[in-house]
Amino acid sequence: MSHVQPLSEQLDDLFVFEEEKELVCDPPATVHTPVPLPEAAVIAKAVTPEAMGDEQNNVWKILIIDDEPSVHRATELALRTFKFEDKPLVFYSAYSGAEGKQMIAQQHPDIALILLDVVMESHDAGLKVAQYIREELKNQQVRIVLRTGQPGEAPEESVILNYDINDYKLKVELTRQKLITTAISSLRSYRDIRIIERQRTELTHALEQLQQAQELLKVYSNNLEIEVSHRTAALQEANQKLHRLAMLDGLTRLANRRHFDEYLQQQWLLMMGLHQPLSLILIDVDDFKRYNDHYGHLAGDDCLKQVAQSIDGAVNRPTDLAARYGGEEFAIVLPLTSAEGAHQVAQKICTAIDALNLPHVQSSVGDRLTLSLGISCMVPQPQFFSATLISTADKALYQAKQQGRNRICTYAP
Ligand SMILES: [Mg+2]
Repeated sequence: MSHVQPLSEQLDDLFVFEEEKELVCDPPATVHTPVPLPEAAVIAKAVTPEAMGDEQNNVWKILIIDDEPSVHRATELALRTFKFEDKPLVFYSAYSGAEGKQMIAQQHPDIALILLDVVMESHDAGLKVAQYIREELKNQQVRIVLRTGQPGEAPEESVILNYDINDYKLKVELTRQKLITTAISSLRSYRDIRIIERQRTELTHALEQLQQAQELLKVYSNNLEIEVSHRTAALQEANQKLHRLAMLDGLTRLANRRHFDEYLQQQWLLMMGLHQPLSLILIDVDDFKRYNDHYGHLAGDDCLKQVAQSIDGAVNRPTDLAARYGGEEFAIVLPLTSAEGAHQVAQKICTAIDALNLPHVQSSVGDRLTLSLGISCMVPQPQFFSATLISTADKALYQAKQQGRNRICTYAP
């Protein structure tokens, strides 16, 4: 061989594949055995996957599946200097459909482009590889370019559609330039698919995080609501307790004077609006000063407690209010109650006091504790005040005392 064309020049030449034959370079047309390609070997060695690392970020992985060794070599030679987006290509070779399946399934799931022969161990081995990749491995990212020697082996259009086969070339068409064009368009789609896939993954991840955050927020919010409602309930209970205490007389546990004043005024207005009778009973313990003087203040207090209990026992309706009016005086507010109704309550109280049978040796009435009661009943009128009811009940009470105590008098205008 007088002149060996430099390899670089050879590579710029047109590569033509012949079905099931060796790579033919033009010129020289006579080369039928693989030309020793020292430089290519060096290149192949320099750009091995191991040397590059198999990070998809650094290289584009190309898998050539073809039962014809020369096709591998020619393809690598044609694309060896080509870079896409500044990243070189690395080549992997499989010489049968079975070997190709195994490589993408087990070793290189991140292959970007497969240049796939149709006829290998069987007439449709390549199509089976494509089917396997899409349907079994569910790998929709890798770009698949079919290459076949004869138009008669062209797959059905439906196969190309179903297996997302991205290009279909006759080997005779495959020049270096066409290979590069094919590589560019395939790698571009692969890159775009990867970007979309990554964005979808990121979006899914972000959505998951959002959902988790929402769940946490919901739980937190529920807990907060429960906590707030517990605390509110506790606070309400404490307030009610405080309110009740503020309304109660410490000794007798009946309503205190302040509560009585508020309640009487409230019921006065209410009964005025309803045109219904409001009754008031004022009660005085007969000769209580003498009782205290004789039995002592502790016994006096105890006596008042027992009287209060008797009064409380006679007042049953929730709207009725028994209160300690002051000293040994008590008062009962009876809304929606006639004078007769009030008299019945008064009578009930007297009966209860009789039943107590408390000794009172200093009493001007007898030797037992007794009460004097004055009743007033009005349908409240705008020209009067609730104090009118008190003063009339007081007059009735005074009358009861004047008449000898231990009795009930009702005010009659
Ligand atoms: Mg073949």
